[in-house]
Amino acid sequence: MVNLLDFDAAALTDWFVQQGEKPFRAKQVLRWVHRFGVTDFDQMTDVAKSLRAKLATTACITPPVPVRDSISTDGTRKWLLDVGNANAVETVFIPETNRGTLCISSQAGCALDCAFCSTGKQGFNRNLSAAEIIGQLWLANRMLGANGDGERVISNVVMMGMGEPLANFDNVVSALNLMLDDNAYGLSRRRVTVSTSGIVPAMDRLRDACPTALAVSLHASNDALRDKLVPINQKYPLRELMAACRRYLERAPRDFITFEYVMLDGVNDSDAHARELVALTRDVPCKFNLIPFNPFPNSGFDRSPAPRIKRFAEILIDAGIVTTTRKTRGDDVDAACGQLAGQVTDKTRRVASRIVPIVEQPR
Ligand code: SAH
Ligand code: SF4
Repeated sequence: MVNLLDFDAAALTDWFVQQGEKPFRAKQVLRWVHRFGVTDFDQMTDVAKSLRAKLATTACITPPVPVRDSISTDGTRKWLLDVGNANAVETVFIPETNRGTLCISSQAGCALDCAFCSTGKQGFNRNLSAAEIIGQLWLANRMLGANGDGERVISNVVMMGMGEPLANFDNVVSALNLMLDDNAYGLSRRRVTVSTSGIVPAMDRLRDACPTALAVSLHASNDALRDKLVPINQKYPLRELMAACRRYLERAPRDFITFEYVMLDGVNDSDAHARELVALTRDVPCKFNLIPFNPFPNSGFDRSPAPRIKRFAEILIDAGIVTTTRKTRGDDVDAACGQLAGQVTDKTRRVASRIVPIVEQPR
């Protein structure tokens, strides 16, 4: 059985053609699957009955299974999804006045081990399939009551859940293609954001394959500090990262890169760091999004105090850089950035965590 959620339009067309079917069947089936959320081939009324019968024996439409659905007091909603072998990933919906953003995971765990990230501390389990990635949007649409015709509940997607999207390149690009496809979710490139810790060659590949809005997790203003906080920096240092950002902008749907910067008390939050950032990003049209650190047990970091974040932002703003400070949303259900997939108490469990179920614990 093939899972049709694994196929973007090109792959589904190829699959139909291989079986002697007409290419336009792909468009019809994509609409049923993604726009209308249909899982039963019999409901695909404009598809020939004989093909429906064949599909019923060769294909399925199987999204990941939600094992928990939590709603925060601020309306943020989080689903814990079982992805088999005792692994679970999370998807978060963040409603705002004039938009609804879905935060999607790309991997179970993450191999990149950023010092301040709870997902990184769990180690790497595996890449999610394209079906498991787009399945999060498919499922959230259903759970939020979208009917395919009505007003969009989910207007924006950010690849900012668990995992490094550019380390699971092909599956992420298939899912992005579906997000942008008019027969599927029809989101504009500007409303789909990939967040990366800075895997330089994959940033170039994304620019060529499927340029969406790009957020880069910067978190430090010099190589010595970034080498420690974001270890992938040892491979792709800041000079190369800034050059890759400039190259990305040649094709990006937005004319700026968003730099994410987690505010860690006494670590990366001084006036000098802010001024160093201004110099570092001088040649890269950008906005900054400051993220107050979201604590988790034994992280070894504290959140910068609010007045410190304010002062830091002022230095960037005074230098002409649009800077916002992210509101912490959903932290009563552990849905804030970097808190996803429960809490791991000890880094020595990283290896064991490949087989230990990821379970949420009450805080
Ligand atoms: N792997 C990708 C996307 C997922 S993380 C990346 O690193 O960009 C989404 C954002 O949350 C990243 O900017 C990440 O650095 C940040 N983040 C991770 N842990 C955090 C924490 N404990 N508090 C605040 N932000 C955190
Ligand atoms: Fe991975 Fe991103 Fe967490 Fe770093 S911040 S460990 S890249 S998920």
